[in-house]
Amino acid sequence: MTDRVTKAVRSRNMAQIRSTDTMPERRVRSIVHRLGYRFRLHYTGLPGKPDIVLPRLRKIIFIHGCFWHSHGCCRARRLPQSNQSYWLPKLNKTRKRDQVNKRALRAANWAVLTVWECELQQIVSLTSKLNHFLTN
Ligand SMILES: [Zn+2]
Repeated sequence: MTDRVTKAVRSRNMAQIRSTDTMPERRVRSIVHRLGYRFRLHYTGLPGKPDIVLPRLRKIIFIHGCFWHSHGCCRARRLPQSNQSYWLPKLNKTRKRDQVNKRALRAANWAVLTVWECELQQIVSLTSKLNHFLTN
């Protein structure tokens, strides 16, 4: 049997997969927006290219994927069994870079909050966490 998925369809499928990767970011943005805050996206010149920046409040929100940023949750522990010598240094590097970036931002007087991908499964508590961070 021949492969009946055309190139066009396949690249459209791939695009959809890619766009769902940005879903956590979009959902956090819409929560912050609904809480009544205005913000800048991908504010340039800041360490780590933060996902959401509120310059007037001097607050920053990072939205981190659990796997890439080595969250301690079950999603993050799904490390590929093959090629660990490839993944582990990569993940360690990301984790170190995150620490350096956050330290630099805090030293420059920014308040920094990290939202993990898995927290989007508990919208109510995530919303109150964001609300708490932004009002305090
Ligand atoms: Zn997680």
